[in-house]
Amino acid sequence: MELREVRGAARRQRQPFPPHRRARRSADRRADRVAPTPVSEVASADRCPCLSGETFGECCEPFHLGTRAVPTAERLMRSRYSAYATGRADYVISTWHPTTVPSDLVLDDDTRWYRLDILAKESGGPFDTEGSVLFEAFWRRGDERGSQLEKSRFVREDGRWLYVDGL
Ligand SMILES: [Zn+2]
Repeated sequence: MELREVRGAARRQRQPFPPHRRARRSADRRADRVAPTPVSEVASADRCPCLSGETFGECCEPFHLGTRAVPTAERLMRSRYSAYATGRADYVISTWHPTTVPSDLVLDDDTRWYRLDILAKESGGPFDTEGSVLFEAFWRRGDERGSQLEKSRFVREDGRWLYVDGL
């Protein structure tokens, strides 16, 4: 085990959404930086990975591109899920609160996120400063399948919703 991994483990939060590999060999990491390849290509006219019923271009894509502000905690949750589903690690990092953001994030290329269920939410509206969203996200990796149940906490600072942590 590399020293970097040990330090990474010490800083790790309790199960941030979704599980991801933090540490990789530095050569791989360099390769990622040079050629960030989306996990799956989703076009604007495709249905949004968050399964809102809207197209990607009408739903989460404008948030990823920074052309629209995220109005609610739920929309941030959905757009972060879509970012995981499309391999947008940069968006996941940029919407993470500075006090809890990991120093490095490498998405697992072999994991496919294929379904999101929003189960409950508290506050998180356009005029709130805090909110939480309970959800279940479903993944498959080769022949394996599973899901992650998490209650994510969000805060709104300077008009921007940010992910804090999940239980
Ligand atoms: Zn969406």
